[in-house]
Amino acid sequence: MEEERGKSAHVLLLPYPSQGHINPLLYFADRLASNGLRVTFVTPIQSKKYFHKADPAVLASTHLEFFSDGHDDGLPPDLDLEAYQSNLRRLGSRAVGDLIDRLTVQGVRPVSLVYDSFYLWALDVAHDHGILGVSFLTQSCAVGSIYNRYLHGHPVRPKEPNGHVTIPGMPLLGLRDIPSFIAQPEGNRFILEWLSGQFENIDQADYVLVNSFDSLEAEVRKEIAEAWSLMMIGPALPAVYLGSKNPRATKMSGEQGMLTDCLQWLDGRPVGSVVYVSFGSMAVLSAEQMEEVSGALRRSKWAFLWVVRPPSANEKAGNSLPEGFMEATSEQGLVVPWCSQLDVLSHRAVGCFVTHCGWNSTLEGLTQGVPMVAIPQWSDQPTNSKLVSDVWKMGVRVEVDEKEVVRSGEVERCIREVMEGERGAELRRNAQRWKDLAWEAVAEGGSSDNNIKKFVANMSSSHL
Ligand code: UDP
Repeated sequence: MEEERGKSAHVLLLPYPSQGHINPLLYFADRLASNGLRVTFVTPIQSKKYFHKADPAVLASTHLEFFSDGHDDGLPPDLDLEAYQSNLRRLGSRAVGDLIDRLTVQGVRPVSLVYDSFYLWALDVAHDHGILGVSFLTQSCAVGSIYNRYLHGHPVRPKEPNGHVTIPGMPLLGLRDIPSFIAQPEGNRFILEWLSGQFENIDQADYVLVNSFDSLEAEVRKEIAEAWSLMMIGPALPAVYLGSKNPRATKMSGEQGMLTDCLQWLDGRPVGSVVYVSFGSMAVLSAEQMEEVSGALRRSKWAFLWVVRPPSANEKAGNSLPEGFMEATSEQGLVVPWCSQLDVLSHRAVGCFVTHCGWNSTLEGLTQGVPMVAIPQWSDQPTNSKLVSDVWKMGVRVEVDEKEVVRSGEVERCIREVMEGERGAELRRNAQRWKDLAWEAVAEGGSSDNNIKKFVANMSSSHL
């Protein structure tokens, strides 16, 4: 068996330790494994919790190797991000290098290191050890292009508060449309330098893989593909959610005890009648914002399924429901601390996705053809929201007030726009079109499928 596996090309994957960065690499790894590659993850111990939430069937096709980033029990609330990144660079470089050496001795030398683009240093580790370095972007091409342009001194920020900036391949962008760290650089200097730094050595990467697909970002892609060895391989999701003719017998069933409850609850609802609400794995909403969203859901009268994620010990307090909300809406809605989002989004009862527009959530909603209400919080989410509302036209985006709070009337208006009338029907048609294009990209002979096969073939030939 070991000898058999030694014959397939072996690829190391180095994800950034957060749910939104691990999920796409896990799904991509599954795709590589089903194309005959051997895959091993190398990741900080503290990120075990994110793998625990993953689909066991996906995990079965990969091997996990852990190293300590000095915070095995999780990151502290007062984390010094700059010091942490510097430690991660030191400890991660050593751990990955040692692993490559050990695997070489064991006769299963990897041919490449596929690393999250957030780890600028990983390319040197790969090249120093004589293997290929492959940068994996877990964000859109559009956002990658904006950071890249920032790095190279091109204008990416409107000069006036109400002005616009021109980014090739994108509509005019206002301050509210660009990544939050560029819109509000004060206090975010380190993050901004770090995230734009992703692109410092990208032209030296042997491949650049992006979790997106050609027809979704055709224009922006054209702008940056020349400079980098870019391949769009997304949406990186399990085949069962992309119309595969050979789905797994069961869908995802991670550790979420509430999964069955959620799906049973949805089973009893008419087609397209439920508003699904989730702000992802990191956002923490203030009491005021939670109150406004609660009021909107209640007043809209639509059934809702709301993921209210309790913040972990190392996050600020928040995400708490107004008193009496659960009791008052027990007939109308279901609140859960976590769910299997892909199962929920692919359920026929779901008619609208109220989302923070994290890149994964955006792609997941898009591939399931669910129109969205975008309530971006930070980072790349404002840009993703712009794409959803103004480029793909499969959702609407809320307006915030002068306190940066979205009021309940606004959330309710947007939910109604998506769920009701001719406008809702138009958004659903557009969402369905994007779903078809996404499925086409990953189907046999589609653009992403071809890119993945080309990548696998190149890995295999490098192995010989
Ligand atoms: N997710 C999930 N269940 C939930 C909430 C989120 O499975 O209840 C998953 C979601 O499917 C996505 C990831 O967590 O794959 C969140 O990533 P995203 O990029 O959307 O946002 P982030 O959490 O990084 O802000």
